[in-house]
Amino acid sequence: MATHVYQIPLRTRFRGITMREGVVLSGDAGWGEFSPFLDYDGDEIRPWWQAAREAADVGFPPPVRDRVPVNATVPAVGPHQAHQIVTESGCTTVKVKVAEPGQPFADDLARVEAVRDALGPEGRVRVDANGGWDVEQAVTNLRDLSRFDLEYAEQPVMDTEDLSRLRRELVRRGIAVPVAADESIRRSGDPERVKRLEAADVAVLKVQPLGGVRRCLQLAEDLAMPVVVSSALETSIGIRMGVALAAALPELPHACGLNTMRLFTDDVVEDSLVAVDGHLPVADLRVAASRLAACSAPVDRVEAWADRAATAATGGAR
Ligand SMILES: [Mg+2]
Repeated sequence: MATHVYQIPLRTRFRGITMREGVVLSGDAGWGEFSPFLDYDGDEIRPWWQAAREAADVGFPPPVRDRVPVNATVPAVGPHQAHQIVTESGCTTVKVKVAEPGQPFADDLARVEAVRDALGPEGRVRVDANGGWDVEQAVTNLRDLSRFDLEYAEQPVMDTEDLSRLRRELVRRGIAVPVAADESIRRSGDPERVKRLEAADVAVLKVQPLGGVRRCLQLAEDLAMPVVVSSALETSIGIRMGVALAAALPELPHACGLNTMRLFTDDVVEDSLVAVDGHLPVADLRVAASRLAACSAPVDRVEAWADRAATAATGGAR
């Protein structure tokens, strides 16, 4: 197994991150990526390693489609830039970051309005608060945002029980915004709790934090609700793992959040997975040594990632 540690700056600060790091590894079946965020530690990084090894050693289940629809992502930027990102993306579904720390809600409203304007009435707009609101704020804010006809609101509040409360409250008040669970699925340690508490209408599945493509397929079946496949802000190698999941799911009613390569300034492959006409192809990647070298992390970070991989690998085998 060959491994390589990458470090790639992002174009815009996204969820507090300006630089992305991780390990890409090759095995008998192909390439996998291990890139848990730096605030993930201990047991939480084991599934990320299992996902990378599955991709590298076993490969992907057979696809049932040859391309997957994807959404554009609008970070916490101003309305002008938001409009521009949407027009340039060629996507008909857009995810808009809201509830960015330090920004007033008026900024969210202006950003979502600009995105709806750029998409026209036919496009789908979803928002992602990353758990940044409490239940009361979420009810008020989603009521205001509902005039832009939202596809769904992703993790408006962090706690899964709160998510369940919020969902009931939205229904009670006639606010027609479906709720999607993301952090409640991948960080709670108990994704099925979302189903038990009836906390969401849609589940967001991410291959790395959930331990691989096959585990996600099983989870999708167990959750028995529509799923959206998303990236964990990875290079094209990690994105390819998400594409493999999206390609293998029996039903794919929503655009996938896999078009995040645009947020990176560089990539480890020649044929970067950036959407064309709102879709990504289901095809093998060309990983080139020259690209890997161009994205190499400095020595101290290589050592840090070797430690992380060792921790994740040992823990996983226990
Ligand atoms: Mg999310």
